[in-house]
Amino acid sequence: MRYLILSDIHSNWQALEAVLEHAAGTYDCVLCCGDLVGYGADPNRVIDWSRENVQGIVRGNHDKGCAGLDDLDWFNNAARSSARWTQAVLSEVNLEYLERLPRGPLALDGFSLVHGSPLDEDEYVLSDADAAGVSGYLEAPLYFFGHTHIQRGFRLSHPSVWYLGQVGQDRERRRFDLERRYAYLINPGSVGQPRDRDPRAAYAIYDSESRAVTLCRTRYDIPGAQARILRAGLPAHLADRLALGA
Ligand code: ZN
Repeated sequence: MRYLILSDIHSNWQALEAVLEHAAGTYDCVLCCGDLVGYGADPNRVIDWSRENVQGIVRGNHDKGCAGLDDLDWFNNAARSSARWTQAVLSEVNLEYLERLPRGPLALDGFSLVHGSPLDEDEYVLSDADAAGVSGYLEAPLYFFGHTHIQRGFRLSHPSVWYLGQVGQDRERRRFDLERRYAYLINPGSVGQPRDRDPRAAYAIYDSESRAVTLCRTRYDIPGAQARILRAGLPAHLADRLALGA
């Protein structure tokens, strides 16, 4: 089975559309590591699509915040105002869908999905030290995670950690063959708000038969997404950062 692994779409319809076009024909099933909404201007369009097309998903912290399941106090100002705006514009059926998203880990075909870390859905796995900190507690040999908006993989052999290389700015795909003697934590990157200094939309393809992961990047209509954010009256900073990938 070939899985399209998405994370941190953040109501960015333009980015999601570009990813689906770029990935067309390379996957059989769609999975998501959370944060469908928050920051961007098209939460209903993204959730309508998710309800129809995503076969496995875990909730993210913005999904919880926008569904009213979590206190917005710890969000920064831009995140909080976009969460309030999202809550106000969501259709009833989409709000219900968001409320019912499961907490990770979600165990699938020999691998698991989480939003933050395998141990805590709200924790960030950014560094090799973060990855080493959870590597003794893994219940699956492969986890896909999100939350950091940084496309990055970690290869683990407790207590050692190696980074998997990134997709270069001049490339669109980079494939890694997984080895049975290691565990892996892999972040497909953020579809709708990348923060790794590459503004292109990010995703991954996992082929469970060949045990290969391909990290992918594709350009999308950033001005279109920015115009939607500004027209919605959301903070201009949320539009600006899309062009920076930061
Ligand atoms: Zn996020």
